[in-house]
Amino acid sequence: MKKYFRKGFPFFRSFRLRIFLIILCAGIIPATILRYVIVNAYENRAVDVKKKEVENQVRIIANHLLAYGYLEDSSSEVVNAELNQLSNLYNGRVMIMDDTFRVIRDTYGISEGKTMISEEVIKCYRGESHTHYNRRYQYIEMTVPITEFPVNMDTGETSDVSVCRGVMLVSASTDNIAITRAILNRKSMVVLFTCIGCMVAIAIGLSYILIRPFNKITQAITAVRAGFSDEEISVPDYYETVHIVDAFNQLQRRMKAFDDSRQEFVANVSHELKTPITSMKVLADSLLTQDNVPVEIYREFMEDISAEIDRENEIINDLLTLVKMDKTAADMSIQQTDINSLVEQILKRLRPIAVQHEVELIFESLRAVSANVDSVKLTLAVSNLIENAIKYNHPGGWVRIVLDADHQVFTVTVQDSGIGIAKEDLEHIYERFYRVDKSHSKEIGGTGLGLAITRSAVLMHRGSIQVESALGEGTTFTMRIPLIYIV
Ligand code: ADP
Repeated sequence: MKKYFRKGFPFFRSFRLRIFLIILCAGIIPATILRYVIVNAYENRAVDVKKKEVENQVRIIANHLLAYGYLEDSSSEVVNAELNQLSNLYNGRVMIMDDTFRVIRDTYGISEGKTMISEEVIKCYRGESHTHYNRRYQYIEMTVPITEFPVNMDTGETSDVSVCRGVMLVSASTDNIAITRAILNRKSMVVLFTCIGCMVAIAIGLSYILIRPFNKITQAITAVRAGFSDEEISVPDYYETVHIVDAFNQLQRRMKAFDDSRQEFVANVSHELKTPITSMKVLADSLLTQDNVPVEIYREFMEDISAEIDRENEIINDLLTLVKMDKTAADMSIQQTDINSLVEQILKRLRPIAVQHEVELIFESLRAVSANVDSVKLTLAVSNLIENAIKYNHPGGWVRIVLDADHQVFTVTVQDSGIGIAKEDLEHIYERFYRVDKSHSKEIGGTGLGLAITRSAVLMHRGSIQVESALGEGTTFTMRIPLIYIV
């Protein structure tokens, strides 16, 4: 079994396991992503809201700072109370710096009087407020400029350009966001694990159900292989199973046809080989059971026995030829051959038989043909056709052989004025041991293997053979063989 698998992890070769994993991943991956997105979206939204809220509060207090002149005198009780309230509200720290970067108020009371210069503070003096969320330590840090629009003392008009008088540096804790996030995380984890549990159960169930038709096929094929059943399999669950089963049924039909034809062939061979032996046995027994048999009778019976031996020999030779023909293309001995002279040689050999049957042989060569063929096999094929045309003819009849070619194939047409073949017999004449008129086969001769040999030889050359016939008028066989043999 092992050799049929591709290399790789043997664990993943199970189709059911793959289906299981696909269904599991299809369920778990979206659920995990969804959980991550929801938790993060909540956090981002909560931090944004908090930033806005803190910024509003800070801006209000910044205005109060200017109104109470806090930057010049930081003793205002009202403002200090507001700053402490802000610091307590957000569980954070508030620092106020004047325009010399000096910390005039720190709700932690650590940095008052010190100078604080950082990139954010400098940018803030230029009017750029800055907000930063530190996820690790869970706080928001914010710098907000304390700006005012100065009033011209002479004209009493308010300037269009704002002046930065100081900076508020505020840090606000986001612990409550972290706590909510943790709760959300825990709950979504529970949902996710419930989801995974359900997906595992669904994946196990589905992988079992989806794979079931393939198991059915395996069981059915095993039953056929073991010989419990030779019926056609049907698993109509999927298109795929229908295709697999169709292919298997076709193969089974082919093998059955092959087996039938093999059995029929063996039966035919046994029968054909037995017939001459039975005749010989009868002839020999009748000689043995009679006393004082005259020499003439002996001679006559021995001649009959000799004829039966010849016939047996003929059948065996034809069978051997047919077996050779059934072999593969590797057994072809292909050579460039002059087909005109090949046909002429055959005709030279068959002319005495034609004379014996009083049949005229006519050869019409329409052009010189040279082709890539196995001359021995082609000679057999053409000889059989011409021999049949002579054998199944009337005295005074004719056989016309026409050789022609185009740029791809050459054709050999063997036409006769003989007895012809009935329509219903035409489709059987290439079958092994098939003879149209069995009653006259003894006097005409032949084994019923000639046309089977011819057809095999033609097919081995990748050619084709056709027959047309009219009973009592004659028969025409046409062989088409490619000029170039393609393996
Ligand atoms: P056989 O050895 O009997 O000739 P074949 O396979 O060559 O066997 O031919 C099969 C049968 O086809 C023959 O028995 C004969 O009845 C018929 N047949 C073949 N060729 C011809 C033909 N040219 N004219 C009439 N019948 C033919």
